[in-house]
Amino acid sequence: MDFNLSEEQTLIVETAERIGREFGPQYWADLDRQQAFPAECWQAICDAGLAGAALPEAYGGAGQGMTEVALIVEALAAGGGGATLGQLFMTNPIFGGVSISKFGSAEMKQALLPRLIRGDMHFCMALTEPDSGTNTLAMKSFARPDGDGWRLKGQKIWITMVEAAQKMLVVARTRKPDEVARRSEGISMFMIDIDREGLSHTAIDKVGTRTLSASSVFFDDVRIEPEELVGTLHHGFQELLDVLNTERIVTTACMVGAGRLAMRLALDYAGQRKVFGDRPISAYQGLQFPLAQAHAELECARLMNLQSAWRCDNGLPYGSQANVAKLIGSQAATHAIERSMQTMGGMGFSKEFHVERLWRDARLFKFAPISEEMVLNYIAIHDLGMPRSY
Ligand SMILES: Cc1cc2nc3c(=O)[nH]c(=O)nc-3n(C[C@H](O)[C@H](O)[C@H](O)COP(=O)(O)OP(=O)(O)OC[C@H]3O[C@@H](n4cnc5c(N)ncnc54)[C@H](O)[C@@H]3O)c2cc1C
Repeated sequence: MDFNLSEEQTLIVETAERIGREFGPQYWADLDRQQAFPAECWQAICDAGLAGAALPEAYGGAGQGMTEVALIVEALAAGGGGATLGQLFMTNPIFGGVSISKFGSAEMKQALLPRLIRGDMHFCMALTEPDSGTNTLAMKSFARPDGDGWRLKGQKIWITMVEAAQKMLVVARTRKPDEVARRSEGISMFMIDIDREGLSHTAIDKVGTRTLSASSVFFDDVRIEPEELVGTLHHGFQELLDVLNTERIVTTACMVGAGRLAMRLALDYAGQRKVFGDRPISAYQGLQFPLAQAHAELECARLMNLQSAWRCDNGLPYGSQANVAKLIGSQAATHAIERSMQTMGGMGFSKEFHVERLWRDARLFKFAPISEEMVLNYIAIHDLGMPRSY
């Protein structure tokens, strides 16, 4: 086991840290207030070659792996973006990049990957539906055959970045549940244009991650061209899981980064603030222990996540590790942020000190992209061999 970063990885982390500092907490606070998309930050990430870190060199990527992506997201999130920063990586390099580079046709790779890597094109992914929720296999969106392609009818909810994106990876049934032996069959992935007849969307007002919109999406007989199929017709669900597991790695990385940022804000504040006499509040053990505990939790989540990324890069199964890391990572980050707010007393509640934004944003990741309960179900069933309870 070698826990040292290579020279190249160290350089990547330094680059990500530099961009993280450039787009620090105030940049994100301003955009959060305006509910505006962080376009300049994403462009800087692309210009530095970080968006394509794990994408093939043939299309302008760096040909590295999820380990590098995890290191990048962690450093960028810790700079100021917090959890939201990770969502930019989920939508573009993961939903767009991983799905296309692993399962797209040669033409699709050639047409879309260079644009994603340069920052000319944004992506989103539409899986969740209002009626089925966590029970994704109960999805109702259906793409029926239409000449050489398909026509899509249905509805999705909570789809991040539809407003900013040009392409959507949409997951739909292509066979009815009663036509297949298992519910996971008869599902396909398509990469479609968002600006297309019959596709409409409405943004949902929400408490956090306000720089990135999330929308309800309606498909009213939307035409899908034959070349827009991603992966294997009717067998897209297993392929989708490959995409979603890399999303878990990014989620944990941004949680660790957001937690580290919250810790830094708390330590800076506590080192300055004096309440009783001349000693700063950072001298009180009552404030030290919870922050020390939060630090320990973040370090564990980080290590588990890097193990999961390493396994992914080495072609080993990593679903269990990615799920465990995501569970602990979201808990560690929300604990760290909560303790950071507590450390700041009333000032933690003001917009000026930034931790309130981290607090609102991080909450999302206790139930998304997979909820704590569903990770625990996964561990009970797959890691512990216990019977399925639902
Ligand atoms: C801001 C935001 C952005 C999002 N972005 C996207 C996106 O880009 N693309 C996308 O496809 N989706 C996206 N989602 C959807 C997100 O992945 C879901 O909200 C999440 O998976 C939970 O599904 P649900 O909201 O339908 O909850 P439900 O399925 O209704 O679950 C409600 C509660 O019941 C629990 N529960 C359900 N079943 C079980 C069980 N068997 N055992 C124990 N507990 C259970 C859940 O854990 C949860 O706590 C986003 C959501 C939000 C809020």
